[in-house]
Amino acid sequence: MTAATIRVVLATHNAGKVAELRDILDGLDVELLGADDVDLPDVEETGDTFAANALLKARAGVEATGLPCVADDSGLAVDALDGAPGIFSARWAARHGREPSDAANTALLLEQLGDVPPADRTARFVCAAALALPDGHHQVVEAALEGRVVDAPRGDGGFGYDPVFVPVGEDRTTAEMTAAEKHAISHRGKAFRALRPVIAELVG
Ligand code: IMP
Repeated sequence: MTAATIRVVLATHNAGKVAELRDILDGLDVELLGADDVDLPDVEETGDTFAANALLKARAGVEATGLPCVADDSGLAVDALDGAPGIFSARWAARHGREPSDAANTALLLEQLGDVPPADRTARFVCAAALALPDGHHQVVEAALEGRVVDAPRGDGGFGYDPVFVPVGEDRTTAEMTAAEKHAISHRGKAFRALRPVIAELVG
């Protein structure tokens, strides 16, 4: 770490996300810290958009640490369900009184889609990534990965809805891709890459 190194917090306990953003920031004089490295409060996601929730978390991170803070919020928006589960993606089964797990979320989604035909199962993973600064400025970027929901889970990789999501132009679900293949096209990869020039400006 040099004198000019800037410390930036990514407000997540997910080590995979920290590693992904660290890779994307490679070459910048930035030390990226995760929520395991600093004390961050639990933030209630009371916003009604991905962007609002990402910004809530980023601002809370700045308040707690005094450092520039990045936070992301993401989920799956399914056209046939009017954009659901959307911002409720992580808690979709729990909101319906079921066990809170990725498998339960996916099972519920497949049930809700029932026999909707393949052409009408279009969906997208969406990610909003917010950077908030101690001086009160902020920037939010949003990115998506378009695809469709298949009718049965396939693959062991990834997490969440990956086993039932096939990106446009692919036959494999995102759970059947390697992490590098998924990061190259994913909503989160795109949003984090869009933040790189913004963070580069901070470093100067
Ligand atoms: P988070 O905002 O990154 O915590 O994501 C919220 C929820 O959206 C996750 O718990 C998953 O259910 C879903 N989700 C977000 N990104 C992905 C992804 O890349 N693959 C599968 N599910 C995802």
